[in-house]
Amino acid sequence: MTMSLRQTNLDKLRELQFDVLIVGGGINGAVSAASLAARGVRVALIDRGDFSSGVSSNSSNLAWGGIKYLESHEYLLVNKLCKSRNHLMKHYPSTVKEIRFFTTIARGFRFWPFFVFLGSVVYWLIGRCVMKAPRYVSARALEKSEPVINTSRASGGLEYSDCYLYDNDARFVFNFIRGSLNYGCIAANYVESIAAIRTDGNWRTTARDVISGESFTIRSTAVVNACGPYVDALNNMAGQHTQYHHLFSKGVHLIVDQITDNLRVLTFFASDGRLFFLIPMGPKTCIGTTDTQVDTPAVSVTDEDRDFILSNANALLDLDKRLTREDIIAERVGVRPLARKGRGGVADWVELSRKHEIEVNEEDQYLSIFGGKLTDCLNVGNEVADKIFRLGIAIPYPDKKWYGEPGEELRDEFMLQAHLMHLDSLTDASSSEPLSERFWRRYGAAAFGLLERIREDESCAELLIETSEYTRCEIELAARREMIVKLEDFIRRRSKIELVVRKEDILKAPGLREASEILFGEQAEERLREYMEQG
Ligand SMILES: Cc1cc2nc3c(=O)[nH]c(=O)nc-3n(C[C@H](O)[C@H](O)[C@H](O)COP(=O)(O)OP(=O)(O)OC[C@H]3O[C@@H](n4cnc5c(N)ncnc54)[C@H](O)[C@@H]3O)c2cc1C
Repeated sequence: MTMSLRQTNLDKLRELQFDVLIVGGGINGAVSAASLAARGVRVALIDRGDFSSGVSSNSSNLAWGGIKYLESHEYLLVNKLCKSRNHLMKHYPSTVKEIRFFTTIARGFRFWPFFVFLGSVVYWLIGRCVMKAPRYVSARALEKSEPVINTSRASGGLEYSDCYLYDNDARFVFNFIRGSLNYGCIAANYVESIAAIRTDGNWRTTARDVISGESFTIRSTAVVNACGPYVDALNNMAGQHTQYHHLFSKGVHLIVDQITDNLRVLTFFASDGRLFFLIPMGPKTCIGTTDTQVDTPAVSVTDEDRDFILSNANALLDLDKRLTREDIIAERVGVRPLARKGRGGVADWVELSRKHEIEVNEEDQYLSIFGGKLTDCLNVGNEVADKIFRLGIAIPYPDKKWYGEPGEELRDEFMLQAHLMHLDSLTDASSSEPLSERFWRRYGAAAFGLLERIREDESCAELLIETSEYTRCEIELAARREMIVKLEDFIRRRSKIELVVRKEDILKAPGLREASEILFGEQAEERLREYMEQG
């Protein structure tokens, strides 16, 4: 029963002829699908893993205007990213939230604190002053308002605003996939593109269902390659030659117990001179990141990465007990796919522009998306639709708005209904926010169904796994609407449980079995075993 949405879509992938097949369900693929489907284009999307199982579940979760690019004088890029950030914030008020970046500058740093502060004022101006203004913070004031910071080497600091994704990146991405399904996109996870040929003006993609091992053909007029770090690999397979290619920079984050209960990002410059963040992640803190040039996108966290992050955190903070590897609750690792024209290395690696490029092969009706950022995702969606239109594919509803949370009126109605049934009084004491806020942010209009369920049976509002911020009725909803194939899809990506609860505690949680039963019915035991064996 639980796999029916995926099964139905697998059948349709075989049967139908599509205008566009999108390969890759990270942020770039997800926004392409949402943008095209809402405009009435017949779209299919496949990902060889779960949706957002690649880079898009391993970012820093920031939607930011790129303050650091001011140092390399890339004002146009900063302007563009600030605009994108503001646009996201406006249309996702409960998801993309303003947060203060509390920045410490050490003595001997390449700029005086006041100069960095002036930079943040320029940044604020470029950002159209939509957020709280920056402020200068003296070394003394730093110590006073955030005693956890080691101020022995601080010469001063500043506080400025940017945005972060309140839930996490993978959830944000999934909501675009979910949106595309509402408009008729046929999407399936765990389906890999293993070959593609173009005959008689049509693409025939050989797809493999990774779960059953079966192969079948998907027919489409155009193909959008949104494989992130694997864009070049897919192009090689499809015989596509491009001007752009990817270079890779590996980035690691570690999650530890909460460092400070002030809801702000602590910002430093690490020993390598790069920005270093301590970012709130629900009830925990996410620390990172590293930036290492690598040749291949298949990466894992090494002891060297862990030690770099832990030793920097220990040096920059004034902790009662130094952080060690035992304190790590969860780890995130991914490569930034950096768009680069031509082949070969670059002289200035760190300053390589982090812009996206969409390359089009008009004759073959084939698009490749290089680079990109979560922050810039709405532009990517719009540009892909524009380029698909120019290829001669009909766009029935060109002006349809395809993104954003439902409007104020629906939100007010939801909040009123929630209020009248005293929903928030059912919030577990360990939760970081009232149930009504969380339901609305995660599910939008579908959250009305949760109210219905809780009216029927109040126990549906109970947490299934301690401190997980996930109630029974949300898991029921996920089973129907979120195409969860493996337990990890739910625990690591639709939710962020695996990022904020230690794996051994998840495995011990009495609610885990029940969650698995709700999600997988008869296959619950098998999926549970698979998850436990994953290490
Ligand atoms: C450490 C780090 C921190 C970052 N921080 C931020 C940040 O704070 N803010 C921000 O805006 N950006 C940030 N980024 C950048 C951003 O996360 C990435 O640019 C973005 O997620 C890339 O998305 P994508 O869709 O291109 O790739 P992916 O998310 O990797 O998606 C590609 C998908 O294609 C699938 N795929 C590959 N090959 C095939 C195939 N043959 N068949 C089917 N499917 C296939 C993969 O399974 C994968 O799911 C960060 C990146 C890193 C690494």
